[in-house]
Amino acid sequence: MTSDGGIQIPSRLPLLLTHEGVLLPGSTVRFSVDSPRNMHLVSQRLLRGTSLKSTIIGVIPNTRDPEHDTDDLPTLHKIGTAGIAVQVVGSNWPKPHYTLLITGLCRFSVSSLLKERPFVLAEVEQLDKLDQYTIPATESVAAEDGELGELSQKFYQAAVQLLGMLDMSVPVVAKFRRLLDSLPRETLPDVVASMIRTSNKEKLQVLDAVSLEERFKKALPMLTKQIEGLKLLQKTRKISPDNEKRVLSVRKGGVFPGRQFNLDGDDEDEDGDDTAVLERKVHGANMPEAALRVCLKELKRLKKMPQSMPEYALTRNYLDLMVELPWSKSTKDCLDIRAARTLLDNDHYAMDKLKRRVLEYLAVRQLKTTLKGPILCFVGPPGVGKTSVGRSIARTLGREFHRIALGGVCDQSDIRGHRRTYVGSMPGRIINGLKTVGVNNPVFLLDEVDKLGKSLQGDPAAALLEVLDPEQNHSFTDHYLNVAFDLSQVLFIATANTTATIPPALLDRMEVLQVPGYTQEEKVEIAHRHLIPNQLEQHGLTPQQLHIPQDTTQDIISRYTREAGVRSLERKIGAICRAVAVKVAEGHRATKTEALTPESQTQQGDKAAPPEMPIVIDHIALKDILGPPLFEMEVSERLTLPGVALGLAWTPLGGEIMFVEASRMEGDGQLTLTGQLGDVMKESAHLAISWLRTNAKTYQLTNMMGGPDPLEGADIHLHFPAGAVTKDGPSAGVTIVTCLASLFSGRLVRSDVAMTGEITLRGLVLPVGGIKDKVLAAHRAGVKCVILPKRNEKDLEELPANVRADLDFVTAGNLDEVLNTAFDGGFPGTASTHTHPQLTSKL
Ligand code: ADP
Repeated sequence: MTSDGGIQIPSRLPLLLTHEGVLLPGSTVRFSVDSPRNMHLVSQRLLRGTSLKSTIIGVIPNTRDPEHDTDDLPTLHKIGTAGIAVQVVGSNWPKPHYTLLITGLCRFSVSSLLKERPFVLAEVEQLDKLDQYTIPATESVAAEDGELGELSQKFYQAAVQLLGMLDMSVPVVAKFRRLLDSLPRETLPDVVASMIRTSNKEKLQVLDAVSLEERFKKALPMLTKQIEGLKLLQKTRKISPDNEKRVLSVRKGGVFPGRQFNLDGDDEDEDGDDTAVLERKVHGANMPEAALRVCLKELKRLKKMPQSMPEYALTRNYLDLMVELPWSKSTKDCLDIRAARTLLDNDHYAMDKLKRRVLEYLAVRQLKTTLKGPILCFVGPPGVGKTSVGRSIARTLGREFHRIALGGVCDQSDIRGHRRTYVGSMPGRIINGLKTVGVNNPVFLLDEVDKLGKSLQGDPAAALLEVLDPEQNHSFTDHYLNVAFDLSQVLFIATANTTATIPPALLDRMEVLQVPGYTQEEKVEIAHRHLIPNQLEQHGLTPQQLHIPQDTTQDIISRYTREAGVRSLERKIGAICRAVAVKVAEGHRATKTEALTPESQTQQGDKAAPPEMPIVIDHIALKDILGPPLFEMEVSERLTLPGVALGLAWTPLGGEIMFVEASRMEGDGQLTLTGQLGDVMKESAHLAISWLRTNAKTYQLTNMMGGPDPLEGADIHLHFPAGAVTKDGPSAGVTIVTCLASLFSGRLVRSDVAMTGEITLRGLVLPVGGIKDKVLAAHRAGVKCVILPKRNEKDLEELPANVRADLDFVTAGNLDEVLNTAFDGGFPGTASTHTHPQLTSKL
């Protein structure tokens, strides 16, 4: 950095454009930057650089960096200060920004701009000598004489006078005193201007004064003004150390070779008022003793902190949250069981079992307010009304309702918050929820507890356990708050699609209430009692304007949706309402024009005539609005070839019908399975083939040449359509056997039969789960007969009567019975060999 006799700053400097705060040589200032160019400068230059040179940047004051990268640069202030970035702190709160601590070195002027993006780079000319700091004070200006010498002497004396008025026992003042003597005189205007109370405008004047003489001239009045001010103050009252600090404020962290000092913030008074308001709020928040103590401690720290420090914002934010939390604010429960029953009945059709249990739960709560019972967990497919029952419970109790979506949460700090040591730390969802509702006894719906994840950041389920455990949750400690909050008044309700993936410890705390899917008839009722009126209201329509007959609803349910719940049904009704709303609005317009110019109607003819009210949605209108049907009764069509059978599957989204297809081609006995099958399902396929091979003779199954081993000289391909969906479980066993038996015998499976059941190697049919959902799916798909394992017979009792009446059920104990039912007129070999042929032939 040395050249002709002086220390040189680099001739090309990246420029930081600042609008607030002026950096003068010899002082250290903290800048907060968040605009694109300044951010790029920090991230691409300061944080990447490895040499000392790369930490030197130019600070251009009085110039705002444009908000957007693409905006043109404003004209730059002509003079800036080169400085060393001594500290860079990044933060994401409240938005991404950096805080830079920069120590000013010397003035420079911008000769030319080299580039504007990603940050501004300029060719600069150094204006101050830098070696003045390395030459002892006595040798430099002391040698000067004439006007400059006089000025500097005057300035020095004024500074001494100022110091004399201050209390030397204050460390800041003592430090100033030391600096005054050890610094070269020509640096004094810059240093003093940055230390005493001066506005940005005044500092800018000092910066712009390139010649030393002018600089002294500009800074001297500021110094004298300060002295006059102090004198006035002393006259009115005796100066206390506090007042001195206001005159001269030195901040820790300023780094300059061997010295530490900094300029004052101008807004301390406001700050004082602000914290006083906060303090009042802290006292008024009615928080428990421990929390109050923490708050007061933080408040004390806050008062001492300068506002520009990143920690100030953190502490402030913390305190704001603390005073906002409903420590002792609650709503009064207004529970009347009879009213609750009416409300639940009015809000929800069917789901009697669930409603009964909810009422029991509420009744017990009414009798014993400090109930530490299990948490209710509603388990069922999407769209069956789990969330909306939760909302109704809150309404019956007169409590606030808040939904916490847990799907995909895999970090325990999502529940319990981040410790405040992290930049950008936040409280967890529980505390956030309490802040949102503003009372400490809301109903919290923990949605999708079965979708909690797990990751390196800890297990959120464990954190949730603490929240839900009545023995612990009266002192739930969020990491961010770091003081206990009493959650015992909160009523938690959980929802899930399946219990299989709920962590066992969590499941243990909950009482599972199954909410199965709805039958077609129930859906029609729900649509007419709730969904249609709701949608009409949401779209600003009345029943006088739109009428959806029951037939149409049935059509929507069977041909446009295939789901256990009613969510897409609701959406489809919404689509109809939108379409009708357009017609109604057009009609309005037409009637208006008609009113204005009577002859216009005749000109426009039928087109503008308002539609007749109410608009009735028939099948044709339905097709116009929703398009061609998405689902046809495809069952019969697809069972027109041998080697296809219809199975029933259970998914967390409800029951489904599932086709199994098989084909046989020349080969050497290979089995290919496609359709994303899990291991259990693959094993079922192998089992089925083995059983069929063993019993080939009994059932007269042949290979392609008519031989006795169906696999000889052939490859088999089994496919489970909806290939993108992963499938697993043993319940497809009977379907695979039926499908292969059809393939090997060349006979068609009955097109109105669906089946489910696990198989064994001996040909027994074992019970499986999810019968109700599966049967409902079969019913939805228009199947007439369902084959079930014998031991599942008891599950049929749960089915609605109309479904039971519509379907034939065949309960099978072995595969023989399955095959007999699945094929028209029975299956060869089944009738004659009634008593487990496989037992004799195999064992
Ligand atoms: P989930 O939480 O089970 O996924 P939602 O509670 O969000 O389902 O329900 C979806 C929609 O269906 C809501 O508008 C709800 O009011 C309606 N709904 C579901 N079941 C019923 C029912 N039995 N009676 C009336 N409306 C219902």
